[in-house]
Amino acid sequence: MPSAPKHKAVFLDRDGVINVFPGDGKFVLHYNEFIFMPQVAENLARLRAAGFLLVLVTNQSGVGRGLMKLEALHEIHDRMQDLLAASKLDGIYYCPHHPDERCRCRKPSPWMIERAAEDLQIDCARSFLVGDSGRDIEMGRAAGLRTALCRENLPPSIEAMEPRYRPEKLFKALAPAVDWILAESR
Ligand SMILES: [Mg+2]
Ligand SMILES: [Zn+2]
Repeated sequence: MPSAPKHKAVFLDRDGVINVFPGDGKFVLHYNEFIFMPQVAENLARLRAAGFLLVLVTNQSGVGRGLMKLEALHEIHDRMQDLLAASKLDGIYYCPHHPDERCRCRKPSPWMIERAAEDLQIDCARSFLVGDSGRDIEMGRAAGLRTALCRENLPPSIEAMEPRYRPEKLFKALAPAVDWILAESR
């Protein structure tokens, strides 16, 4: 049987990319605390229109730390999907574990990306990751994705970063990162 054609995808971190980063050591514990970054739905729509699947990959150790129940995390994601409407994500992968559990899914492990690639028939070589932390980039690189670091306070240069955290590109916001992905995938 011939294998199905594979999709291209953009993998997105959640806190700091889709919604406002709640701060180091802080967690979004309830959907009332979930605040979208500017123009997220519009930018996701541009990627979808170009044929990309949209996949969320997020560490949510607030669950493993006992700060929130898994049901609360699911409520946050259900609400996020409702509000994204036509820009709804095609897949949501999360690690709920405490860092000390040494699970296989927690970033920077590429496990969540590998699962999504299998579930959704994704070709990682034609796919991208957008994240706001070195750990995101390390995961994306390990999975063979092209990577963009996206956050307001960027390091002065890629060379100034620890080698394993170095992305292909730096952007101050999601919109220019999406511009780059669209230009590169033409
Ligand atoms: Mg983040
Ligand atoms: Zn995990």
